[in-house]
Amino acid sequence: MSSFKEEISKRRTFAIISHPDAGKTTLTEKLLLYGGAINLAGSVKGKRTAKHAVSDWMEIEKQRGISVTSSVLQFKYNGYCINILDTPGHEDFSEDTYRTLMAADSAVMVIDGSKGVEKQTIKLFKVCVMRNIPIITFINKMDRDAKNSFDLLEDIENVLGIHTYPVNWPIGSGKEFKGVYDRNSKKILAFTANNGQKEVEKKELTLDDPALEDTIGYYHKQDLFDEIELLDGAGDEFDLEAVRNGQLTPVFFGSALTNFGVEPFLEQFLQLTTPPLPRETVDEKVEPMSDFFSAFVFKIQANMNKAHRDRVAFMRICSGKFEKNMEVFHVQGNKKMRLSQPQQIMAQEREIVDEAYAGDIIGVFDPGIFSIGDTICSPGHKVQFRGIPTFAPEHFALVRQKDTMKRKQFIKGTSQIAQEGAIQIFQELDAGMEEVIVGVVGVLQFDVLKYRLQNEYNCDIIMETLPYEFIRWIVNDDIDPKTLDLASDTKKIQDLKGNHLLLFTSYWSINWALEHNKGLELAEFGTN
Ligand code: GDP
Repeated sequence: MSSFKEEISKRRTFAIISHPDAGKTTLTEKLLLYGGAINLAGSVKGKRTAKHAVSDWMEIEKQRGISVTSSVLQFKYNGYCINILDTPGHEDFSEDTYRTLMAADSAVMVIDGSKGVEKQTIKLFKVCVMRNIPIITFINKMDRDAKNSFDLLEDIENVLGIHTYPVNWPIGSGKEFKGVYDRNSKKILAFTANNGQKEVEKKELTLDDPALEDTIGYYHKQDLFDEIELLDGAGDEFDLEAVRNGQLTPVFFGSALTNFGVEPFLEQFLQLTTPPLPRETVDEKVEPMSDFFSAFVFKIQANMNKAHRDRVAFMRICSGKFEKNMEVFHVQGNKKMRLSQPQQIMAQEREIVDEAYAGDIIGVFDPGIFSIGDTICSPGHKVQFRGIPTFAPEHFALVRQKDTMKRKQFIKGTSQIAQEGAIQIFQELDAGMEEVIVGVVGVLQFDVLKYRLQNEYNCDIIMETLPYEFIRWIVNDDIDPKTLDLASDTKKIQDLKGNHLLLFTSYWSINWALEHNKGLELAEFGTN
């Protein structure tokens, strides 16, 4: 194999999704530890250290001690080149989190063993399901009292609607956590806690090992034998095809904090997932190993430097190789250009990249020309990737400027922030831009908007929260929204491109609209 193809084959690009506090950061740290990207676990935890000050307006981030922006980490392990897309897991996460999943080839879902599937996981999970990407589950914190393991699996199956296949099986939990049984090797890996060091003492036993009873205890041994029988008899069969299609999730039990089960997880994860897969464009599929370069923008991060009001556009490379200073074509801008200051991020440190391959993520300096979903490709081979869906905001507010003289700044500011994808703006039908309806995925974005308009655009705003909770895109092109028969608390709006949407306060009003307007089709995602 040529080295070009080798480079792409060894890439694995995935996102880690979880409910806040389930242990995503801890697991990421441990994974990086194996890759040697950092020497000591703890360095990733930028969100609670002062070092994380990447942007001025992210003062909010520092003040609240949460991570609003997602970052990308690359490290090498066992001949693989791994890209982890970090997703902010706080309740107040933004649409960025969803979009990051569009750049990943698979997802790791971290679940707290004492809590099971939590709200935030469900939303993120739906996006993975929509894309049919493999989802691998890591049930964490087994060194704490956990829920019954069968109940945890049932929870995943019922709430998320996906089959499960436990790759290993825990023996006890909390103070009684004795280790895991690996169903493939049929060996028990006894639990030995360490302080998060890379080397974990490995104590493996077969089921007929005379030392087994001493190691895990009589009762645990009895339970384990019963449970293995139950799993082998009644559980789902392992089916790699179903894993790759996102219909079956392999489940691992472990404890990220004590570093137990992390390396076996990583090794098997790499086997279960694939190198970058072909990506759909408007009229064809692009193979990652094609000799031309192509990428799409999935995230724009504003104002790394306040003085310049510059932005960084993050793009996922879908095919070919990127080389510094090469000429590319920006499809939406219909322009040839060179990408300036291409960078990759290694555990908080930004580095200029000389080359990158399909599967990698690069951030480039953006003077304000890129939008979410844009395609960049080799000038000699023009393609256009399908746009990234617009995810439904869940919070809405009516926003207007305090000082009517500042109309220009207000329009410019809100439009630019919307272009970055941090907020969505809508208008009432036939209304102007004096007053806009802002929709966000996480309420924190309202604060970000207010802060940024004040600090970057010198524009104070008045914000009035609206009671709507659901937004739907009207799919039918031939319907004039004015003719719709709607409940009194439903609002008709349009986006800046003129697409028509409806705002609802309850599911009840959505049903009302569908029942009273035959043929009306409503979508939860918009396309751009
Ligand atoms: P995140 O919000 O999902 O990134 O969660 P963190 O990785 O920040 O972890 C949240 C808390 O749970 C921290 O205090 C961790 O030390 C703790 N934690 C993470 N993994 C484990 C684990 O395996 N066992 C125990 N006991 N605590 C853990």
